[in-house]
Amino acid sequence: MENLWRDDEIDPLRNKAGGEAADVALAERVYSSRLLGREPDLVLHGGGNTSVKVDRTWPDGSKRRTLHVKGSGWDLATIEAPGLPAVDLEPLLAARTSGGMSDPEMVALLRANLMDRDAPNPSVETLLHAFIPHAFVDHTHSLPILVLANQPDAEQLCAEVFGDEVAFVPYVMPGFDLSIACGDIYDRNPGCKGLFLQNHGLFTFSDDARESYSLTIEYTSEAEDYLAGKGAALAADLANEANEPEALTARLGEAFAAAFPEMASVAFDYREDANVRSYTGHDRLDEISRRGTVTPDHVIRIKPFAMICSEDDPIDALAAKMRVFAAEYTAYFDRHAPNAAEPKTMLGPQPKAIVVRGRGIYGVDSSEKGAGIVADLMVQTTRAVIASEALGSFRPISEPDLFEMEYWTLEQAKSQRK
Ligand SMILES: [Zn+2]
Repeated sequence: MENLWRDDEIDPLRNKAGGEAADVALAERVYSSRLLGREPDLVLHGGGNTSVKVDRTWPDGSKRRTLHVKGSGWDLATIEAPGLPAVDLEPLLAARTSGGMSDPEMVALLRANLMDRDAPNPSVETLLHAFIPHAFVDHTHSLPILVLANQPDAEQLCAEVFGDEVAFVPYVMPGFDLSIACGDIYDRNPGCKGLFLQNHGLFTFSDDARESYSLTIEYTSEAEDYLAGKGAALAADLANEANEPEALTARLGEAFAAAFPEMASVAFDYREDANVRSYTGHDRLDEISRRGTVTPDHVIRIKPFAMICSEDDPIDALAAKMRVFAAEYTAYFDRHAPNAAEPKTMLGPQPKAIVVRGRGIYGVDSSEKGAGIVADLMVQTTRAVIASEALGSFRPISEPDLFEMEYWTLEQAKSQRK
């Protein structure tokens, strides 16, 4: 992966920021966040967050160590300074020894310590950023890293590829507990420059903006080289071939209306390319497509499994498959909801991704935009799964962990707001 940092681009931004060190650091943070955002294989559809720690004078005149961290609703590709709200760091560090807190308590803590009360909610991964002592922290869902992170022997692979520069973090769901785990693992490996999160992604850090960003690119490139050396290279992202089976799309629309009459609208976004076909034509498609998502976040967009159909299925067969999907999704909900700490409300049981055997994949949503996001994530998933299976075996988080993520209190709140 190419390092996009250019001194001739950052220098004018530093000058524009003025004389305050905090503002210069924030300008650097905005710049390198945008560099990460330009690479879909690092941060597709909101899959990453960044931060910087600075000394700032607060409105009451006090000088405080301040964390600027990505706010929800901002995309790294287009982020600006207001997308990195300022939070008082000290109370966040105190939370580490608080003995635990619920996710709503964590969100309340973050909001209570914002410099600007109207700022967006700081990322749910804010405490993790706080507990890493370095000024700059970069978090991505780097696709080549995820191919390694979803192997059964991810821990050995992390050691083999990165040595002791990068510390391994066993899977923990995002939120308070993951922040504590990462803080502790960092403390036990004080010389490390990155954290490799099993089934989830990568953190890199440094007191220098360029170095923190460059480590993400370097580790991603090392993962790419390792995969290529093992004959499991991650395929390049390909252009969509634009050969949608229009008749099938029309039948899917009718089948959807028959299976889910309560849905007012549905949009389909069809994608097909050689990578997608190696997935949809896989001889173990039915089993592989049920294993889970390449990083936990994706389950919120694409659901834990896809519906599979054939190009020549008539309307009744498609509607029947949709009803089977809904029944299976309801059974998944019923299996796991009783184990949750609080009552959960089932999301719509409609498929989000429809895989056409040997052909393409449809993203499905009530909006065109939503369908496009599902399709983007599915196309990326096909590349990761094929490389993972070539290297060894694609082993993402388990079904209970997928459920915990999909029905995470904070995510349920987010989807209800939408
Ligand atoms: Zn993440």
